Amino acid sequence: MKAIRVSQTGGPEVLQHCDSPDPHPRDGQVLVRVHAIGVNPVETYIRSGKYGILPNLPYTPGSDAAGIVQAVGKGVTRVSVGSRVYTAGTLTGAYAQFALCTEKQVHPLPENVPFEEGAAVNIPYATAYRALFQRARAAAGEFVLIHGASGGVGVAATQIARAGGLCVIGTAGSERGRKMVLEQGAHHVVDHQVPGYLNKIMALTENRGADVILEMLANANLGRDLTVLARGGRVVIIGSRGTVEINPRDAMSREAAILGMVLFNTPENDLASVHAALVAGLENGTLRPVIGQRIPLAEASRAHQAVMEPGAYGKIVLLP
Ligand code: NAP
Repeated sequence: MKAIRVSQTGGPEVLQHCDSPDPHPRDGQVLVRVHAIGVNPVETYIRSGKYGILPNLPYTPGSDAAGIVQAVGKGVTRVSVGSRVYTAGTLTGAYAQFALCTEKQVHPLPENVPFEEGAAVNIPYATAYRALFQRARAAAGEFVLIHGASGGVGVAATQIARAGGLCVIGTAGSERGRKMVLEQGAHHVVDHQVPGYLNKIMALTENRGADVILEMLANANLGRDLTVLARGGRVVIIGSRGTVEINPRDAMSREAAILGMVLFNTPENDLASVHAALVAGLENGTLRPVIGQRIPLAEASRAHQAVMEPGAYGKIVLLP
């Protein structure tokens, strides 16, 4: 099969499109013929060698793919040959024509969801769902501010929060992104490039402040987030690319909580609950990933450049 292999950490050019042996499923494993692959920022951090946990070299990147089950090992009962699935992690890497997974890493992809959209589900939607409901305990009727609503996680959070009955305020840095955020269900959208844009949040929340803030770039925003939180508000730090200064008194006076999360730390039971909710949302059509760019697998290096550029518009997917 063709696969992307990384033999040394570095820039996007270390993503090499190579011939690689076809994997075969052992007991309890599932082989997926990959139709589309989701590209996530974390894959660029790992590729550059700047991440807490790094794979042994050489490796094939990626955890998010969608496709059809090609073969199953002994003991597999939840899927069979021909099942449509999306992956939430793999054993051999998702940037390839075939991906070997454990049975628990594959989830049913409803007939109404194209493979490209299935490839955009795992990291973005699982992160958004866990942030909203398992970390922030968001409730219908609350105000949620989604910082970076134009990106993969932000679009997912916007759709999930809207379907869950929250009042959604999203931010985006481009005109095209802001239009899309409204189309995905946000009640209001603001431009995070405009100085003082957070001053609008009090008016948009009836002077209450946001009950929940999902933060995709905490190093830029956390200090100011704490000033627009409601009493008892919760900020979930999903993304951060540096350090930040905060005034702890802003959290004290609001009895606010600052909650971190990394999807890879999710306990197994919580993860099973997340995917049950996501499959239901895909089935009933409330969750529909937005695909902004489609790039051939052989040009994965271009996708890694694009995912770090401003002007996000949903997801970038690779096509093998
Ligand atoms: P993405 O698709 O590349 O989107 C990035 C988002 O950040 C875009 O919406 C972008 O908006 C926005 N952004 C840029 N400047 C901003 C600012 N000053 N304030 C607020 N938002 C700003 O990435 P993603 O997949 O959604 O991931 C978002 C972040 O979360 C990344 O840092 C990623 O590594 C992290 N993440 C963490 C976890 C976890 O488990 N903790 C899981 C998934 C992702 P514009 O382009 O419109 O300006």
